[in-house]
Amino acid sequence: MKISFKEIEILVSQLYGFDEPKVFLEQYETDGKTVSFFLQKAYQDLIRKSVVDLGCGTGILTFAAVLASSKFVLGVDVDISALKIALKNKKILADLGFSLPVDFLCADVKKLYLKKKFDVCIMNPPFGIQRKGADRIFLKKAFEISDVVWCFLSQNSEPFVRKFSEENGFCVTSSFKTKIQLRRKFFFHKKNVEFLPVDIYRIERK
Ligand code: SAH
Repeated sequence: MKISFKEIEILVSQLYGFDEPKVFLEQYETDGKTVSFFLQKAYQDLIRKSVVDLGCGTGILTFAAVLASSKFVLGVDVDISALKIALKNKKILADLGFSLPVDFLCADVKKLYLKKKFDVCIMNPPFGIQRKGADRIFLKKAFEISDVVWCFLSQNSEPFVRKFSEENGFCVTSSFKTKIQLRRKFFFHKKNVEFLPVDIYRIERK
């Protein structure tokens, strides 16, 4: 079934988010509008490709990629309760008639070992705000397992991302600025809805 980015935006907006988000894992879902912005930019890389989604949470980017016609997507997250929600979301989409070549794996990205590589890695990981260096661990793993990486990071991370990519034999080929819509989740959120400025990077093996 071929569907538009707008339809994917609407579908993923209706999926379950985190029940009890964990601050130390920096858990928040990507909102529907950001998902369709991401797909407009990344679509050509995703189509008919094998994809791994690191820190997949409740599966928003995993499902977005597969609905946009990736061949297969593996979602990886350390938190089993997030993956249980991802499975509930999978059932919702399957009941709507979508075929979903996705699988989920519960693992810490730091210790993740995958037997085979994936064409593309996508991720909206922790930004390293609660645990310093978390973003670095995700990028390092992505460089190990894929030749093309699409990664969300906090704004102003560009000098770090460019340098770290170069050190690992990769280079940033594009970057896009956007804002993720965060619903009030944590005590330190002051408003019901806040916008978090982020950069989305496309990084490729040299
Ligand atoms: N990618 C999802 C969730 C973003 S929140 C989305 O876009 O909606 C970041 C996710 O990274 C959370 O689900 C959190 O549980 C996961 N995470 C944090 N540290 C991790 C680690 N070391 N290994 C695997 N997953 C991790």
